[in-house]
Amino acid sequence: MRSTSLAVIGAGPGGYVAALRAGILGIDTVLIEKDPYLGGTCLHRGCIPTKALLHTAELYDEIREAGDHGIRVGEAVLDMSGVHRRKQAIVDRLAGGIRFLMKKRKVTVLTGTGRFVDAHTIAVAGPDGEETLRAEKVIVATGSTPSDLPHVRADGDRIINSDHILGLEEVPRRLAVIGSGAVGSEFASIFASFGAEVHLIELLPRILPLEDAECSQALERAFRQRGITCYTGTEVTRVETGGAGVTLTMKRGDDETTLEVDRVLLAAGRRPVLDGLGADAIGLAMDGRFVRVDAYMQTSVPGVYAIGDVVRTPALAHVASKEGILAVDHLAGRPVQPIDYAKVPACTYTRPEVASVGLTEEAAREAGYDVRVGKFPFSAIGKAMILGDTTGFVKIVADARYDEVLGVHVVGPRATEMIAEAALGVHLETTVEELGRAVHAHPTLAEAMMEAAHGVYGEAIHA
Ligand code: FAD
Repeated sequence: MRSTSLAVIGAGPGGYVAALRAGILGIDTVLIEKDPYLGGTCLHRGCIPTKALLHTAELYDEIREAGDHGIRVGEAVLDMSGVHRRKQAIVDRLAGGIRFLMKKRKVTVLTGTGRFVDAHTIAVAGPDGEETLRAEKVIVATGSTPSDLPHVRADGDRIINSDHILGLEEVPRRLAVIGSGAVGSEFASIFASFGAEVHLIELLPRILPLEDAECSQALERAFRQRGITCYTGTEVTRVETGGAGVTLTMKRGDDETTLEVDRVLLAAGRRPVLDGLGADAIGLAMDGRFVRVDAYMQTSVPGVYAIGDVVRTPALAHVASKEGILAVDHLAGRPVQPIDYAKVPACTYTRPEVASVGLTEEAAREAGYDVRVGKFPFSAIGKAMILGDTTGFVKIVADARYDEVLGVHVVGPRATEMIAEAALGVHLETTVEELGRAVHAHPTLAEAMMEAAHGVYGEAIHA
């Protein structure tokens, strides 16, 4: 029987990063992955393929708007097979990179499905049969998968989920998206650019419901201008397939309406992957559908850790990776600090982009802070005009007492890149004064961050 110091089950951004970190620390490590490729949801069915499609969508829009820049082009034609080829080439290259890094860090990769026999014994069922592995420590990083709605199941044809839509060979004429979190909103954005008639349906009162309310409103306004119909506070009560299309019945208050579309995307949530893992066999304590962990990612079973989408922390690739590093450093006895989840940046790569870190204005008020807000629009930023995209703003939520930056919210061009500065600032507990004092280069979009900081005191220069 093979034995190792550490076994990691699942090679998504949680598991593969944990395995690399362990390799860097010289820990004898085996990484177990059931798919033939490494990278998990993020690389193959999530972050990377969606962002590749979003970039293509942005380029397609820009080509059609090239006349505004004095460039005359012929008709831009979308070739979906070319779009998928490019997306796949990026995915393959990154997956190859992960495999290379495993070799470099001397991590053994086993292809197969892992299952606990006991807390330190894992059976791995692979293409060539089953092998058993003894491991002193184990990290569970089995991730998540799209979930159906109680009354609507994805059939992979007319009713699809995020896995299915990534392979669509043609653009549906009419697409309904149920759920307006990051995943639903991003696909709405992609397919609107690709020419579909898009209907975005959200049960809660606003789209991107976890973001600051002003960001949700700004995105909804921009989506409406792009021709995306947004239905908020709306419940889909029935979905019927028949003939060539799908009929949705929707309820808003007492009003019931129906909507005919060609395809429906279910983007209303994901569930942790624990089926067949043997969590019961080792008595892993659960937190609802998630594995229960402490601040160092330790489960209730000594020596067994869990990270990423299987635990109840923000379901984001960068969170999974940081949790992987934390778990490995902890099991290696290195000095560690728990992750401060209140300071995790969240990005939505729609057009316009939305990004945030820290508290929303509403949450800061609820927490009892004496809140001050500074807001600066991209319409007054030269670089935004140069880029031809002046939608949105930077909003800083601050505490009047200590001048601390509590949260930063950006809607607009390159918002997802701009948030890095804010994430560092919030991490370092920066003050509004320091953020405003830091010299920001001209002309850049980041000047909006500096101006929003001045705006907290009503002293923005260009407002
Ligand atoms: P996963 O990435 O799900 O990986 C788990 C791995 O474990 C899989 O490879 C699976 O095959 C393997 N596995 C499962 N069970 C077993 C077993 N028993 N034995 C062996 N292997 C097993 N996050 C962001 O931060 N930014 C984004 O832009 C972003 N975009 C997204 C877009 C979409 C459409 C989706 C669906 C998600 C997106 N996410 C994004 C979320 C992100 O993909 C996840 O948070 C992240 O992948 C979670 O990482 P993980 O390692 O926990 O799990």
